[in-house]
Amino acid sequence: MPSPIIRIECFNAEAPRTQRTAENIVDTSAYLRELCVSALRTKNKENTTLISRPGTRQQVRRRSVHVRTIGAILLLILFLTPCRSGGQTNAQFDISLRVDYSSADELLDFFGRKANNPARVAKQQGNQIAARTSLLLARTERPGDDFVRALELARESFKSMNDIYGLKMTMSRLDELKKLLAETKRRRLDTRVVATISSLFPADASVSLTIPVFVVAMGNENAAAFVRRVVWRDNTPVFVGDDQGEQVIVLNLARCLIRGGDVQQEFVQVLSTLAHECFHAVFGAYRSGFPEDTLPRTPFLALAHLVQNEGIAYHLSREIRDGGEVPPSKWFDATKRAVETLNAAFLELQSPVLTPGRARDLMMNSNLSGSFEGNYGATAGLRIAYEIENRLGRPALTETVREGVRSFFEKYRELCRRDSNLPRLDDRVLRAFLP
Ligand SMILES: [Zn+2]
Repeated sequence: MPSPIIRIECFNAEAPRTQRTAENIVDTSAYLRELCVSALRTKNKENTTLISRPGTRQQVRRRSVHVRTIGAILLLILFLTPCRSGGQTNAQFDISLRVDYSSADELLDFFGRKANNPARVAKQQGNQIAARTSLLLARTERPGDDFVRALELARESFKSMNDIYGLKMTMSRLDELKKLLAETKRRRLDTRVVATISSLFPADASVSLTIPVFVVAMGNENAAAFVRRVVWRDNTPVFVGDDQGEQVIVLNLARCLIRGGDVQQEFVQVLSTLAHECFHAVFGAYRSGFPEDTLPRTPFLALAHLVQNEGIAYHLSREIRDGGEVPPSKWFDATKRAVETLNAAFLELQSPVLTPGRARDLMMNSNLSGSFEGNYGATAGLRIAYEIENRLGRPALTETVREGVRSFFEKYRELCRRDSNLPRLDDRVLRAFLP
């Protein structure tokens, strides 16, 4: 039986719970090949942990108005300007998203009492995957009709239920979800996401990929979006391994709601989450044609690949959320510490006394610690991608997409030589895989 691989963007995950989740869903062979379980920080969390700076209450209030004004302007720019080009425009780069809203539509109609058939809601393909994945993440098994009963119960008395499927949020924020769903449909999510990720790929990239995207409005509280490989048997998903079935993205709108935010900000969150996932899918398909990118064989190389893959994906998410805004000083401090932790992890992964258990922990923590700084692999990768683009331009970052992981680290090594203030990667680490 092949090991199912799951790629998850976690939402405001607490560290211990996320860690357990990861152990449950990623087996030892899978995590070495492709571990992408990331803590996707939302605007809420970012404001409290990184963007917010100390100050008096009045200063904070002024700053918050200021930030909101800048945010509104950035949003305006995002929607009014054409998507950034500069990557490929050729016919061999053919990416499309097949976005299916029926899971969210049916659920919101049922909870809004426009429809009364919970079995029909439960049968929607996206809802089936979201429900099964929720059980997996909750590390529990339930009888086949459990989801249907949970839907009925949630509509009647959601306050008292055990919320394995993440239905409380759906019921309690039904109106906001309806608005976000309508906005997401109106904004042509697929066109914008494809245009955005295309800008990161080289002009001669040859990738043809149609990615089914199921938009849902329920699911485990830690997952805003995830990727699974499935085959369908009698309209029931069977989760399969790396080289089988089709890769599908499930996006939970309920986890893109922002407390106190408006629907435009939430739409940007949806866009950012989906673009992050799509980048992984397209990058994986593109790199699969390169012999040097055959599955990384050592934990060391697996971590290096994760740093590049997550780093660029998070850079893209950040760009969509924050536009060209320069990150606050705390962001630079946190990403610097992440690079230091990455150095230590790389050295440990080279150690002759490394145990499989410790290698697994290091891999898990690199993207699953539950905090921005704790996710040292993804966060260090974000800093590296940011510096490459900021100092060398988008074509240089695109070149690392074409050239692969060594180019990503090589370009950053060159930047560190030019500017001693950048957080350095240890020479012993770089010597291990760079000329
Ligand atoms: Zn990711």
